[in-house]
Order: sequence, then C-alpha cells, then structure tokens
Amino acid sequence: MRPGPNPLIAARLVERGEALFRAPRVPIRFTGLAAADALLNDIEEQPHAFVIACLMDRQLKAERAWGIPFELSRRLGGFSMAHLQSQTLERIREVFAHPTKLHRYDHMADIAYRGIRRIVEEYRGDAAAIWAGAPPSAEVVLRFLEFDGVGPKIATMAANILARDFKIPFADYYSVDVSADMHVRRVFERLGLVQSKASVDEVVYRARGMHPAFPGIVDLPAWEIGREWCHAKTPDCGACYMVNICPHAAAVGLCDDGGRCDDAADDDTPGI
Ligand code: SF4
Repeated sequence: MRPGPNPLIAARLVERGEALFRAPRVPIRFTGLAAADALLNDIEEQPHAFVIACLMDRQLKAERAWGIPFELSRRLGGFSMAHLQSQTLERIREVFAHPTKLHRYDHMADIAYRGIRRIVEEYRGDAAAIWAGAPPSAEVVLRFLEFDGVGPKIATMAANILARDFKIPFADYYSVDVSADMHVRRVFERLGLVQSKASVDEVVYRARGMHPAFPGIVDLPAWEIGREWCHAKTPDCGACYMVNICPHAAAVGLCDDGGRCDDAADDDTPGI
C-alpha cells in the first residue's frame, strides 16, 4: 500500500492557513489596478462587484477577469445595482464586445446579465444577502452554484475569499474546499500529498482529509508556495519553507538538512 503523506506537511500548511485566516482584513490585490481593486474590495457597498467578478473568472487570466466589473462600470457609466438592473441584455452584450472584447467568450455577457437578474430577483438587489447572517458554508457554496456558469471550483473559491480575506463569518467551514488550480495541484504533487498527474477531485479530497473542518484552509498556503517558489520549471526550494520536509526537494538533493528530510526534521516554519 502506498504510504500516506507526511503529516508534518499537512500540519505546516494548516498552520500557515490558520495564520492567514486569523490575520486582520487588508485590501485584497485582485487585479493590480487601484480603481478596479477598490471596487472589488468595497464588499459592504458594492457586493455585486465581487459576485460578478467570480462569474467572469473562467478561462481567462485572473487579473483580467477580476477587472471586468470595473471596466463594465466605465462602459456603462456606473455600477450601482439600480443602474445595472436597468440595462438590457443587448446593451450588456454591446459593452462586452466594444470597443474591445471584455472576455474571450462572447457568452460571458449573457452570464453577467443573468447574474445581475439573479441578484435582483433572488436577493432583492443585495448580493450581500448571499452570505449575510453567518450561514452554513454549504449554503454559501450552493448559492454561488445556483448562478449560471458557476461550478464547484469558483463557488468554493468565492466562499474561501469571503471567509479568509473579507472575514465574513460562516456557521462552519466544512464545505469550503480548495480550488485546485495549477499552482495548488503542482505543490500538492511535489509535496507528495497526491500522486503524479492527480485529478482535481484527488486534490480536493486530500485537502478534506488533511483538515475536514475547513479543507480550504490550505488553499492559499499551497497557492502562495506555487506562485513564490514552486515554479513549474525551476522550483526555488532553498527559499521555500517546506524544504526540510518536501519529498521533491529531497529527491533532487535540495533538502536543507543534508538530504535527510525525514519526519523527524525540525518543524519550525522559516519565513512565517
Ligand atoms: S521545497 Fe521546492 S519542490 Fe518542495 S514545495 Fe517548496 S519549492 Fe516546491
């Protein structure tokens, strides 16, 4: 039988995830464009901007997808729900297409339009009702899944950002899974948490096993490692805080304890 992953790896990722979860709220860098990020961070006054950005986050560079609400605001001359709900589908299609395409897929204009209609009809124009009142995490994920074009990856990503970054309280966090993007999958694989070429489901279920009460707690730590150090071609293991317990680093001779890299290695977490 294949041995399970090193429990120290799960513990270290969870420790980092819990530190991020407990940290005070700070402005989130969604796009790198100040005005676009300001709109998305205004979750109290413009919660629909966050929801519509989530709907757009498909098959497009994240910074560009998350910039769509701000660009829509510019092209439509405002972004209040009152203004948005007065727009026709034809008008939304028009501003998605001109003067440049907002999204690589033309039908995303329809997704945005139906998202606006859903916020109006199901939530009386207040998208914050999706997560108000500390609902169970399953309810939040389900409410995102009910929007056209949203699958489990986006729904759990939305719930994770709300809980971790916007500090929105939920009754529980059982249904907040990892969003297994390329960074998370690569890091899980190199850390020996899943087998080579693991599916999204394998990554999701491994995270559930690591922390059943809040599987998504390890999402940002794994994503950070992937973005900062665990590059696809040349991982910078010497700078990574997992190096002394990472099987991939040991296999390529980069473990910082002389190649021993065993379970008894020091569990201090450098750099955090
Ligand atoms: S030690 Fe290296 S291979 Fe392991 S997770 Fe960190 S960067 Fe990736």
